[in-house]
Amino acid sequence: MVVIFSLLSPNVTAILYIQYTPGTGRMAQLQTINFDWWRDPKGYRIVREKPWGHRIVRKGHPREKLELCRPLDPTDSLFRVFANIGTSPKGLLDFVNRHGPLTLTGNDQGDPVGHVAWHARVMQDLLKSVSADRQQTSLAEKFNGAPAVTFDAMVVWDPVAKAAKWELRPRSLLDGLWLQFGQAVTRGANIRTCAHCGAWFETGAGTGRRLDSKFCSDEHRIAFNSLKRSKEK
Ligand SMILES: [Zn+2]
Repeated sequence: MVVIFSLLSPNVTAILYIQYTPGTGRMAQLQTINFDWWRDPKGYRIVREKPWGHRIVRKGHPREKLELCRPLDPTDSLFRVFANIGTSPKGLLDFVNRHGPLTLTGNDQGDPVGHVAWHARVMQDLLKSVSADRQQTSLAEKFNGAPAVTFDAMVVWDPVAKAAKWELRPRSLLDGLWLQFGQAVTRGANIRTCAHCGAWFETGAGTGRRLDSKFCSDEHRIAFNSLKRSKEK
């Protein structure tokens, strides 16, 4: 059975949907994201063409083969990399060279830089607000401004858990990144900014970092403190 969710209402709907988990456990069981994607083994470059402005297009000829990739498999926080570096054209090009284009037509018409950079800015802004203050009344308003996510959902059998579960299939890498974002902000973990490197990381139960951690890793806590000591001398 394939259920198509076309979420035309603001992203809050998608996030609320993701948050919904039957059962009572405190640790939400996350839906699996299943995502096949295609990238050009020759890489990508930025072109400027009127009237579209800057686009990120593939280097290979349209008839040349693309290679299959699964950019969302190695980590459930690729969205953080995107929010960190995707706001600049150079950062976006880096990201696309590694993980493939962001939009459905990225391998044909190219990714429009202005449009995808806007997504990165919105995501970055939301992450900053969430990590800064969870009591903020303006958060609801901010989430209203977030884009909708499009994906297919399928019920599959999980042989390990011996239970049926939802499997989410994003339409594009950009949709997949928003899904990952939704899973991270709705599972109850706190998101903070590392005082040493500025990267976002999760704290609290199940994340490996204490709720009040200021650093993404022990290495960065140590690096930060030794830098501070050498400055004080
Ligand atoms: Zn760090």
